[in-house]
Amino acid sequence: MSEFPLWAIYALPLACILCLYLLARRRREIRARDTMRRAEAAGLTDPPSLHPVVDHTLCMGSGACARACPEGTIGVVNGKAHLINPTVCIGHGACAAACPVEAIKLVFGTERRGVDIPLVKPSFETNVAGVYIAGELGGMGLIRKAAEQGRQAMESISKTPGTHDQLDVLIVGAGPAGLAATLAAMEKKLRFVTIEQEDSLGGTVYHYPRNKIVMSQPVTLPLVGKVKLGEISKESLLAFWQDIVDRVGMPIRYGERLEKIVLIDDGFAVRTAGADYRTRNVLLAIGRRGTPRKLAVPGEDLPKVVYRLVDPEQYRGKRVLVVGGGDSAIEAAVAIAGETGAHATLSYRGNAFGRVKPQNRERLAGAEKSGKLKVMFESSAVSIDQGHAVLEHNGGTVTIDNDAVIVCAGGILPTPMLKDIGVIVETKYGTA
Ligand SMILES: Cc1cc2nc3c(=O)[nH]c(=O)nc-3n(C[C@H](O)[C@H](O)[C@H](O)COP(=O)(O)OP(=O)(O)OC[C@H]3O[C@@H](n4cnc5c(N)ncnc54)[C@H](O)[C@@H]3O)c2cc1C
Repeated sequence: MSEFPLWAIYALPLACILCLYLLARRRREIRARDTMRRAEAAGLTDPPSLHPVVDHTLCMGSGACARACPEGTIGVVNGKAHLINPTVCIGHGACAAACPVEAIKLVFGTERRGVDIPLVKPSFETNVAGVYIAGELGGMGLIRKAAEQGRQAMESISKTPGTHDQLDVLIVGAGPAGLAATLAAMEKKLRFVTIEQEDSLGGTVYHYPRNKIVMSQPVTLPLVGKVKLGEISKESLLAFWQDIVDRVGMPIRYGERLEKIVLIDDGFAVRTAGADYRTRNVLLAIGRRGTPRKLAVPGEDLPKVVYRLVDPEQYRGKRVLVVGGGDSAIEAAVAIAGETGAHATLSYRGNAFGRVKPQNRERLAGAEKSGKLKVMFESSAVSIDQGHAVLEHNGGTVTIDNDAVIVCAGGILPTPMLKDIGVIVETKYGTA
């Protein structure tokens, strides 16, 4: 009997390892293909802003990008990296950094969908002298970058202080960029006002889903020093910022929305929802979410009308009208009907829901079946009073009993306001 060949002792375990590796790789590919198919079926194919594009002539399918992406935006399909779930991309570029062959670059917009990016100098000043932009509005997503830019912009702004009857700077927005900028303004003892249209700090972070784990790299904040956040829940991050605001006594004028900026001799006249200011500089740290779109109907100013769902619990046992046809409207209606036993009516002016996540469609169908949620297509609110809401529907009007209204009708983006002031805005179609 011939002897068992020596090479086989080494080759067999290696073959086993290779088989296991190929099997795991195949499973990952199947999962990635499935995610990609579902995103395409739901029409969720456009990344919101900065995102990766893969050069398939260079990509060797190592999967390093997929492993580096915590959002699950990118995956390997047919041996090459693809954007399998583009809408969840937040543009941090971890995939590009991880790619061993530099096959990934980050771009704004796609061929079909342009993204407006204002022109900003390295000092964060725009082409309009005295108007500065920091944070995500300038194109760079991420908490650390926004905070860093807010701080740096204030370095530049402090070189052109206002005269005695002017503020040195009006800071618009209390997200990461606005908060860091305000800390810098305090450190430099500038005369400033910080306004925020919402009733809370945090900006986009405030709107993350409950308990979302936020990842952020270390950042240096004026008056505070180096902060290492690492992985932290949304709630803890907001509490961390609130603690800083309280400790340093940061003045933020909440519920005050910037409405108009007019260029005057040596600065700007700024109108907000509650006041008029004269200032030498304006720092726009307003992100890209925009201002919630209103219904413009009588009764909209009642306190029972809000523009986002904060806590479904507050609607327990109530009759709630949710207006809108996107994911946030459906998620709000389903959360209210499902978690609290409230009775929700979802009013949408279209005749079908277009681009919404498949899970939301399923949850919506479940909530409708339970009888807790009623969907009214081709309807729109015409007026609201303390105990009712009147909707236009099928050519007539319908009055429903109502305790609360949540409007999820999208946002008015900042681009027109920037153009009004004279800031040059470039629309990028898949370029850096
Ligand atoms: C779902 C999701 C998950 C994310 N996860 C992460 C993560 O894990 N790690 C990370 O680093 N980044 C993450 N990001 C990105 C990060 O949240 C943003 O890049 C960052 O918040 C941008 O900060 P900002 O200050 O530029 O803008 P924003 O946070 O958007 O703040 C802008 C502020 O300006 C206010 N404002 C707007 N218009 C006006 C006006 N006209 N008048 C007055 N105030 C106004 C807004 O109300 C808001 O408070 C995520 C983003 C999303 C959408």
